[in-house]
Amino acid sequence: MSGERRRRPDDPARRGWCPSLARPMPTGDGLLARVHPPLGVLSAAQLRAVAEASRRYGNGHVDITARGNLQIRGVSEGTAPPLAAWLADFGLADVRSDGGPQRLTLASALAGFDADEAIDVLALARAIEDVGLTVPGLPAKTLVAIDGGGRWGLGAAEADVFLSATGAARVAIGLASETGTDWCAEIAIDDAPAAVGRVLNAFVATGRRRVRDLGDSERVQLLTAHAEPSRASPSPLCGRGWTLRQQGSGEGSDGAEACGADLSPALSDGTLPRRGGRFFAGAPEPGLIALSSGLTAIIVEAPFGRCTADNLNAVAALQAGEASSSDVETHPRHSGAAQRNPEPTTGHCVSGGFRVLARSEPRNDGGESEDHHAGLGAAPASQDAIRLTPNRGLVLFVREDQAEPTRAALAAAGIITESADPRRAVAACPGAPACASGTTPVPRHAGELATAFAPFAARGLFAHVSGCAKGCAHPRKAGLTLVAEGGRYRVVLDGAPGDGGHAPSLTFEAALDRVRRADPAQSLAGAFGP
Ligand code: SF4
Repeated sequence: MSGERRRRPDDPARRGWCPSLARPMPTGDGLLARVHPPLGVLSAAQLRAVAEASRRYGNGHVDITARGNLQIRGVSEGTAPPLAAWLADFGLADVRSDGGPQRLTLASALAGFDADEAIDVLALARAIEDVGLTVPGLPAKTLVAIDGGGRWGLGAAEADVFLSATGAARVAIGLASETGTDWCAEIAIDDAPAAVGRVLNAFVATGRRRVRDLGDSERVQLLTAHAEPSRASPSPLCGRGWTLRQQGSGEGSDGAEACGADLSPALSDGTLPRRGGRFFAGAPEPGLIALSSGLTAIIVEAPFGRCTADNLNAVAALQAGEASSSDVETHPRHSGAAQRNPEPTTGHCVSGGFRVLARSEPRNDGGESEDHHAGLGAAPASQDAIRLTPNRGLVLFVREDQAEPTRAALAAAGIITESADPRRAVAACPGAPACASGTTPVPRHAGELATAFAPFAARGLFAHVSGCAKGCAHPRKAGLTLVAEGGRYRVVLDGAPGDGGHAPSLTFEAALDRVRRADPAQSLAGAFGP
């Protein structure tokens, strides 16, 4: 690593970089090391280990990613190796060294607790993770989304391969396409890991990076690859009268004949099936969910996806029952208490604003403990485990009588615990000083904007505060985008960060004032007019 060329965050060579512990990614605040908890599940001890690692080997800031992984920021070339060794002692090491995905599957944050699920989602996910490790050359971003057919799902997951329960012990298998998901067939759940393995091997053979980018002939290869003779049956999701056709041939392919599957619409123009959109159930929103087990799930989100070591320690302690709301120092915004961190008060988690007083240090002496060495096959899935969600959040499981006090403690610390929290309608990157490309304190500005923007969010609009034109947090259109340039903001209405500004650049205070004075019933264009 020492001989590696340092790259700026916006270096094109960084595009597509999928960081791991062995291969951290350069950012504005040093190296970023990604931790991939098996199945997105951690014990309280593992979460404490991540928190302690971020303090020892990083700058104490931790991101929660959209795939339910953790990113330790502020790592250096000198601290990256001991960081990896520390986490390995807690069962959080990289699982492969060939550049393939460290974590292949994504499932509902409530998998295993959802009484409506038809299959054992976590068991299937473990089996597919095992199969994925046997596929050499798998692109690092490859993702298999698994839905158990329960009340809570993954929403609009951007995966490559989809598995969705269609009944007890059966799943539909689908491939990502430009417009949604091509559902291939329905197979027995026992056959699913091997079928996914065949699809992944066929995918590697195409040389593509994402399944959605496959050409039609390549897609046919994957559509047929999943099946062994006589194993698959037509998926009810494929609709009636669909049969696999080679592009332009008008004839059923050998693969379709072999498996007997009725896979794609018999369209006269030979086009492949396109079932637009996802059909997964929505992901759980922040709040409380009573589970049939008698427990209550507390769904929370990190504002703008960022947390601190202290935040994570607090979550771990509350989950483990080692702390109550009175043990947690509240965020200065709510308590008026002195803030340890000199940063201005913001709407997001800031270092030192949230500390649990009762905390036991994780072991790192090589000795055995109850859950330090949980590997893939033994990932904690019990009620004392914490889940990472695809919404950049966490799930705690507590007794019903502890649910409200625990939620109150988390909310007082600045963590999002309500679905109506206005910060959920604003995206924000780290900005300055965390990122070298930023010139403004983006998370603080985003927190302030969220309150003013709430009436527009109620109309379904979304806002984005970006530290530069790269737009890392939301590289797409938003109703209002503020793009930092030299300490001021370019205002983009209904556009992406790289689009032209709607008005001359403004200070943040001026832009905020215009949003505050805008009529929520009218277009924002009037507020930013000349
Ligand atoms: S958008 Fe934000 S995080 Fe991305 S390069 Fe620009 S300042 Fe850095």
